[in-house]
Order: sequence, then structure tokens, then C-alpha cells
Amino acid sequence: MLTRRSPWLTEDLDPIRDLARTFFAKEVAPHQERFAAQQHVDRELWHKAGEVGLLCPSIPETYGGGGGTFAHEAVIYQEQARAGDSSFGIGVHSGIVAHYLLGYGTEEQKRRWLPRLASGELVGAIAMTEPGAGSDLQGITTRAVRDGEEYVLTGAKTFITNGSQAGLVIVVAKTDPAAGARGVSLLVVETDGAEGFRRGRVLHKVGLHGQDTAELFFDDVRVPAANLLGGQEGQGFVQLMQQLPQERLIIAVSSIAALERAVEVTVDYVKQRKAFGRELLGFQNTRFVLAECATEAAVTRSFVDDCVQRHLTGELDAATAAMAKWWSTDRLCRVVDECVQLFGGYGYMTEYPIARAWTDARVQRIYGGTNEIMKELIARSL
Ligand SMILES: Cc1cc2nc3c(=O)[nH]c(=O)nc-3n(C[C@H](O)[C@H](O)[C@H](O)COP(=O)(O)OP(=O)(O)OC[C@H]3O[C@@H](n4cnc5c(N)ncnc54)[C@H](O)[C@@H]3O)c2cc1C
Repeated sequence: MLTRRSPWLTEDLDPIRDLARTFFAKEVAPHQERFAAQQHVDRELWHKAGEVGLLCPSIPETYGGGGGTFAHEAVIYQEQARAGDSSFGIGVHSGIVAHYLLGYGTEEQKRRWLPRLASGELVGAIAMTEPGAGSDLQGITTRAVRDGEEYVLTGAKTFITNGSQAGLVIVVAKTDPAAGARGVSLLVVETDGAEGFRRGRVLHKVGLHGQDTAELFFDDVRVPAANLLGGQEGQGFVQLMQQLPQERLIIAVSSIAALERAVEVTVDYVKQRKAFGRELLGFQNTRFVLAECATEAAVTRSFVDDCVQRHLTGELDAATAAMAKWWSTDRLCRVVDECVQLFGGYGYMTEYPIARAWTDARVQRIYGGTNEIMKELIARSL
């Protein structure tokens, strides 16, 4: 109703969009309350998604992926947001972890890990944040010390999406603490049987209740030197800087879809709910608030669509991706808050999708780099 068809949403994407829509309606939406109660999706869901081709859609077929582009990823994340799901950590798994492996992995590493991520045999996570360092990644203390043909990995990570289910974790560690950004490397840890690796609590969050967010501990974990991403030490910071724009665009794509959905469910609600003998939509305040929300949705949609198109042609720069991230998440929070208000008390009841949308939205301004850090990045480009 609110949306025109995005220019990047070409007809060849219709089958994957329909597939994703059906998958989220059938395999995810009916189980949302259970996922929220157990704080993670069923492990089996990863296998199911892998079987139908919803994992790693933009990884080449040679490595078990779908052979598509970022547009295939974006379609799936939009459908997820439209289904109101915030449990299934596929954005991190397919859109982020798989792309680190594809972008920097040696041929052997790509063949070893990507097919297993695409099938759902492995769940992927990326562990940057530590209890003492989030925005300031150079402040991490996790250490990887070379010992013969292995690294000895020591440190603690927190807030890690897919943390309790991950079988493959890309760990950001210092291989040379004296070298600043050039002393950071990415080590791939296969958690199965890794001695000294321990998962901590699945953390209780304000929203995203079904999403598995955990602490991870590495106590002298011996990781084969062959698991150093790209095979060369000191590349971690550059790899992170190159991949973060896609992570931020994924957040923007999900945020605009969630924003549009919030407006849609609110329009439906105010047409049904009556007060003072008329429907809520009859009040000028309701009409003006929704007119503003619809405008915010349209403006944000145009910008995010433009960013997706630029990303597809390799022209999305880091500052523009940062703009898309802060803008779309900021608008999402503002609009969802207005929508909750129009629902009255029902907007505060968790059984109403708008209430869940409200609690799920808040973190979008925090993770993937906080919105303040986004503004720093943009300011540096001016
Ligand atoms: C649900 C969830 C899932 C997450 N998933 C992952 C994951 O999968 N992997 C992972 O590695 N991390 C993950 N994170 C961590 C997330 O990326 C960090 O929380 C985020 O980067 C902020 O770091 P911090 O929490 O340490 O906050 P801090 O860095 O301590 O920031 C606190 C405040 O200070 C502000 N601030 C900091 N530096 C500046 C500055 N230079 N200028 C202005 N303001 C500044 C920040 O904007 C913020 O408002 C997740 C977090 C959450 C909540």
C-alpha cells in the first residue's frame, strides 16, 4: 500500500521473495513465542533454511551458495522484517560471516566452510565486541599468540549474535598488541570440540527475545594457524572496515521494511478502533501523525533503495552506508514510537506486533556500530 516496487527488486527476484515469504509464514511466525521463551530459534530451522536455499544466497554456487547478488540477501531480510521476525540470525550468518570468508578466505578456507554455512550444518557468528570494548575496537584485549602451527587464543566476547548455536565464530583478536590497528587479525574458530572454548549466558534483552545473543569465552583455545582468515596476520582491521558497510546496509534494509510494516499495521488498527463514536483515523491528529510516518517511510525507502543499487554496482562508500544505517534506524524508532501511541494501551501489550516492533527497534541504533559512531564516520568524510 505504501510502497512502490524498489528499482533493484527485479522480476527475477520474485521466486526468492515468494520462497522467503512462505518460509517465514510457515516455519518462523507460528513459533515466535516459543523462540522468544527459549531465547533462540530451533537448531533445525537452520537446516530447513539451508535445504530450501535461503542461506548464503549471494555466495557463488561453487561454494554451495545460491549464486545470487546482494539483492537476493536484501529480499530475504525484507521478508523477515515484514513477517515481524527478529529471531533468526541470518543477517549475521549469510550477509556478514559468509562474506568475510568469501572476501578474504583462501581457496581452501572457502571450500572448507562456505558449503557448510550454506547448508545450515554450521551456524556462523562474528565476535568483535568485548565487555570492555565495543565502539573502540582497537581497545580489544583478546590475544592470539602463534605457537608453531597453532594460535593460542585467549579472551572474552559479549553480545554475540548466534553465540549459543554458532559452530563457526570469526574472532577479532590481537596478534601484535604493539602494532595498533595493524596488529588485529581475524581467526576462524570451529567451536565443535575446541578445548577451552565456553559459551556463557544467553543474555536477557529488552527486545529481540528470540535472538540468540551470548557471551563467549576463549581460555587458551588452540586454533590451527590455517584458520587465520586470509592467511596473513594484521589484516583484520582492514577486513572489518571493508565489510562493515554491507553489515550497515543490511540493518538499513531491515529497518525500512520494519518501519513500513509498523505504518501498515497501525493504519489497519486506526480504521477499526473507535473512540468518541468514530474511528481513530477520523481524528485529525491520527491522520497527521500517520501522514508524517508515511512520508518518513517513503523518504527512507528511496534512500535505502538507492544505497542497495549503489552496493550492487560496487559504488556504496562507507560514509553513505553509515548514513543509511543511522537514518533508517533513527526513523524506525521515531515512527514505531508514534505508532505505539496510536494503539493506546494495546500498543504496550506484547501480544500486539507493534509492541514487539517497538522493543525490537531500539537496538538498531546501537549495534552494527552505534549511530554516534556512524556520524563520526560521516563527519570524517566531509
Ligand atoms: C542485541 C545485540 C547484538 C549484537 N551482536 C553483536 C555481534 O554479533 N558481534 C559483535 O561483535 N557485537 C555485537 N553487538 C555489540 C554491538 O556492536 C556493540 O554493543 C556496539 O558496537 C556498541 O559498543 P558498546 O556496547 O561497547 O558501547 P560503547 O562503545 O561503550 O558506547 C557507549 C556509548 O558511547 C558512545 N560513544 C562511544 N564512542 C564514541 C565516540 N567516539 N563519539 C561519540 N560517542 C561515542 C556510543 O555511541 C554509545 O552511545 C551486539 C549488541 C547487541 C545489543
